[in-house]
Amino acid sequence: MARVMITCPETGKPVYTGMTFDWHAFESVQIGEKSVPCPACGKLHTWRRVDAYLDEDGGGA
Ligand SMILES: [Zn+2]
Repeated sequence: MARVMITCPETGKPVYTGMTFDWHAFESVQIGEKSVPCPACGKLHTWRRVDAYLDEDGGGA
């Protein structure tokens, strides 16, 4: 499983959205607009799948 990340538009830092997906699932999943409280800047960011990327947890496949 990989963590779904967005980039904070205020600070440019990676922000974990609280969701995890496996790579295959993420390719086909339908995600509507989500919001995440940003630990980097303290604001609430709205994001969609196109804004997000996966961060593999370093454990390999
Ligand atoms: Zn932010």
